[in-house]
Amino acid sequence: MEMYKLPGNDTDATRFNNVVAVLVPRSKEWYERQIQTLRTMCQYCYKARASILLLPCAHVSCCKDCLPLIRRCPVSTCNKIVRGTKEIFFV
Ligand SMILES: [Zn+2]
Ligand SMILES: [Zn+2]
Repeated sequence: MEMYKLPGNDTDATRFNNVVAVLVPRSKEWYERQIQTLRTMCQYCYKARASILLLPCAHVSCCKDCLPLIRRCPVSTCNKIVRGTKEIFFV
């Protein structure tokens, strides 16, 4: 599937635009809701809900599939080297 991309730095806003096609104007509330949802998603692929706690930064920021692919926390403001992981479970 072709994703709509905006040029720019690898910021949260750019990542957000990379995964959400911005084709029609939406309300501020809509964007805020989308951003809230994206914060609970894997910050690497945005395809699955984040379910791995990374140590030492303690961000729950990646999914099981992406864990073998990352060496650093995918949160753009964090980027700490991953020293340990713990799978978490939502009830
Ligand atoms: Zn992922
Ligand atoms: Zn982190």
